[in-house]
Amino acid sequence: MACLWCHGAIESTLTVADILCFRPLQPPRICSECLATFQRIPKVNICPVCQRLNTKGEVCEQCQAWQQLWPNERIENQAVFYYNQTMQAFFQRYKGDGDYRLAACFQAQLGAAIKPRSKRLFTYIPSAPSHFAQRGFDPVVGLFKDVVPLVTLMAKVETAQSQAQKSRQARLDTPQFLTFTGGRRQLKGIDEIIILDDIYTTGRTLMHGRTCLRQAGFNGDLKTFCLVRA
Ligand SMILES: [Zn+2]
Ligand SMILES: [Zn+2]
Repeated sequence: MACLWCHGAIESTLTVADILCFRPLQPPRICSECLATFQRIPKVNICPVCQRLNTKGEVCEQCQAWQQLWPNERIENQAVFYYNQTMQAFFQRYKGDGDYRLAACFQAQLGAAIKPRSKRLFTYIPSAPSHFAQRGFDPVVGLFKDVVPLVTLMAKVETAQSQAQKSRQARLDTPQFLTFTGGRRQLKGIDEIIILDDIYTTGRTLMHGRTCLRQAGFNGDLKTFCLVRA
């Protein structure tokens, strides 16, 4: 198979552990040389809530502020990579140029990080209708659709500016732009929802996702997961 990023050949990297584990594996879609140019999130010296780097393992100020605003929510986000230069180039090609072939790049890494189980539901932060019309696809759905079963529960109301174009403070001040479009029936028997997104920046969008699902009546565990921590 060819690497989706550099188009070179991908060597098979099947290990004994892979062979001994009987679940179907996501084969790597980018080669190990390319993968090494993306920055993985380490296990230590990060904020345990949002994975901001260099916090000596302490909860960062932003997360403390969210926690004060929502004392009853256990806020926690997981991600796989940081937003370094290669990741910026990835999003330029994938979202900026609309190259849908890149959607599968990180399937193996995402598949190793998030797993379906019974009573767990995966939903996502959808594109604004105008962005969807421009690209012809939803970038978040593209990243995750072959990794876990996705359920559409929310729609994004069209806003004048996208989150990506705003300053940090303007992002934090953004009013709710998500509406619940699912049915109560879809939440029945579910004890955990994981909200998926592509990039975690301030956490604002994901907090809107949480609020939207809480207002729809979901009382179980809510977690968020992104490909990238900016
Ligand atoms: Zn490559
Ligand atoms: Zn944090």
